Amino acid sequence: MSITGSDTNALLRSIPAMEDLLNAPWAAPFTGPLGRETVKKIIAEALDEIRREISGGVPAGEPADCSPIDELVISRATTLLRLKSSSTLKPVVNATGVVIHTNLGRAPLAAEALAAVNAIAGTYSTLEYDPAKGGRGGRNAHVEWSLCRMTGAEAALVVNNNAAAVLLALSATATGREVIVSAGELVEIGDSFRIPEILSFSGAKMTAVGCTNSTRIKDYCGAITEDTAVLLKVHPSNYRIEGFVKSTSREELAELAAERGLVFMEDLGSGLLGPLGVSFAKNEHSVRECLLGGSNIVTFSGDKLLGGPQIGVIAGSKKLIDKMKAHQLLRALRVDKMTLAAFDATLRLYLSGRQNTIPVIGMIELDKSVLLEGARRLCRMLKRIAADLDAGDFDILVVETEDAIGGGSFPTDLLSGFGVGIRSNSFTAETLAAGLRAAPIPVIPAIHEDRVILHVRTLLKGDEKLIASAFSSAITAATLSREAD
Ligand SMILES: *Cc1c(COP(=O)(O)O)cnc(C)c1O
Repeated sequence: MSITGSDTNALLRSIPAMEDLLNAPWAAPFTGPLGRETVKKIIAEALDEIRREISGGVPAGEPADCSPIDELVISRATTLLRLKSSSTLKPVVNATGVVIHTNLGRAPLAAEALAAVNAIAGTYSTLEYDPAKGGRGGRNAHVEWSLCRMTGAEAALVVNNNAAAVLLALSATATGREVIVSAGELVEIGDSFRIPEILSFSGAKMTAVGCTNSTRIKDYCGAITEDTAVLLKVHPSNYRIEGFVKSTSREELAELAAERGLVFMEDLGSGLLGPLGVSFAKNEHSVRECLLGGSNIVTFSGDKLLGGPQIGVIAGSKKLIDKMKAHQLLRALRVDKMTLAAFDATLRLYLSGRQNTIPVIGMIELDKSVLLEGARRLCRMLKRIAADLDAGDFDILVVETEDAIGGGSFPTDLLSGFGVGIRSNSFTAETLAAGLRAAPIPVIPAIHEDRVILHVRTLLKGDEKLIASAFSSAITAATLSREAD
């Protein structure tokens, strides 16, 4: 269909007047929460969009029995109003089976951490105040003692995230000097954190040594110059090289650094504070083991395996950490009170031996029989809903799943779990998944071999109910749109 000049003018003229739109019954539910002025602006945005499309020759809806331009305006405006009347940051149900899912906000906090945020966020606090002295205190002091207890470090410092921790640690120790790192460890994490780039931001010069799959102690040795300040070891986190691999041990690097008066720094990524009850974690060293093995400084995230809020920890030598505490950059990377409250409460769970109440730890260590039971319950519930809605043939069954820890930890070690697989003769898996994601609290499933999979490992208390309502609205919507075709 092509639009002639006179068509265009006629279409533009047929757009309803703003006053009529604002007073129409469909707009009423939005004027309460958003206010009349905001609703007016949003409708104007929709109208502008439609005018541009008409003027650009894009057909504005097919002719229908009633005036199509009215329908188009109402549907565009309600979509936009719905989008803007609620926050885009909202809870979701993680049915992906990936425990530490960066896009879904990594670690859900423990109940104690939430209570701590709640107690601190709405009031004044001792954030930087020492009531005993009646004067200034330090915000880092709230968590330093617990961190030192848990890791055996002499000192510890927290910043915004682990990327900030690496940046500050390098800025305080290596600006204008050289940092030696293995070519096999020049990793990119979560498509934005790249070791070479962070190094260059810190003003340090990078010397990469060895090959992708092999770096020996003599490679480091040979690269040391009088400008060298740091030997850096980076946890490869999200990838693994199979086959012939030779990397240099922590102990060898620590010895070399000590001999030559250099700092030996390790970026651990996911900092393990305590032992993790899954067999493949035996090879993963805890922060304490790294420090015992001779690292002067280790950096790690608070919201990966640790299971706390987004934070970055620098732990190790007091002399080096004092330099970081005095660095100007710290002011730009400092942590706010809500994060500190949540992190402090999370650390206390470790200190009191109750880390299995931390959601990510609990999920990783979940027993298979519990997962199977959860999958069976969910399966029965979804079958009942599908039968009640009489929405055609569904194939709903308990399936074995491969779950992942995520967050760059153990990329090749999967956890075996259970879930519910859903296949329909009437809709594709993608249609069903899109329907689940369209719920007010979106349910995020996985898709495997044209089957929607709901992994039960990552479900939290109350999620079953949310899945039930998302599932019924998803199949109702899919049925309606199929009937409309
Ligand atoms: C995840 C990770 C980072 C980045 O940590 P953030 O807390 O996301 O900033 C840095 N280094 C390694 C090795 C990681 O695994």
